[in-house]
Amino acid sequence: MVRLFLVLLLICFSVALFPQQALQKVANHNLIYVDDPDSSNDVISATTFTFPFKDKTIRLSFLFGQLTSLGTPHEGIDIQAPAGAQVLASADADSYSFVDNGAKSYGKQLILSHSNGAYRSVYAHLNGLNDKIFTEVSKPDFKPGTFIKKKIYKGDYIGNVGCTGLCDGAHLHFEIRALDSKSGAYTAVNPKPLLSN
Ligand SMILES: [Zn+2]
Repeated sequence: MVRLFLVLLLICFSVALFPQQALQKVANHNLIYVDDPDSSNDVISATTFTFPFKDKTIRLSFLFGQLTSLGTPHEGIDIQAPAGAQVLASADADSYSFVDNGAKSYGKQLILSHSNGAYRSVYAHLNGLNDKIFTEVSKPDFKPGTFIKKKIYKGDYIGNVGCTGLCDGAHLHFEIRALDSKSGAYTAVNPKPLLSN
């Protein structure tokens, strides 16, 4: 009985301490962190996805769910970084795609497919691509938006920060989308939990 009580006490302590540890880790990264209004989409595993930059002292300028100038909720997070900074794959990917919207929308965007399509990560407003990726998406038979089956590993350099598309300063617009297996559609989810790793 005493042992059971001690175990319960330990669990209570762990639960009470955990949020403080998470905040501490975020603080160490010098991220500007404001809680978003809706945390119900926090389904991303921080062990699967990681922050897409080596430099963790990068700041967030716009959060998931905040209203954009178009009056629609922001579907990702904007990470401020100097033009040309290396963007890293947030998780292992089975395949990737590329779309160039010119001066509109997300500009040059790279999309990685993870866990057999269960998730996608989006890296927008890029001004450069990894040479190997660039070679593949520059082939005449490549159709924008279709996926090329080539492995990319978490932490691989995939592209460079820019300000292509609708953009008023160099930053990475970063999104994670989850597949709804019933409808087959992808929905943007809050990437916030990965900021703590
Ligand atoms: Zn954005």
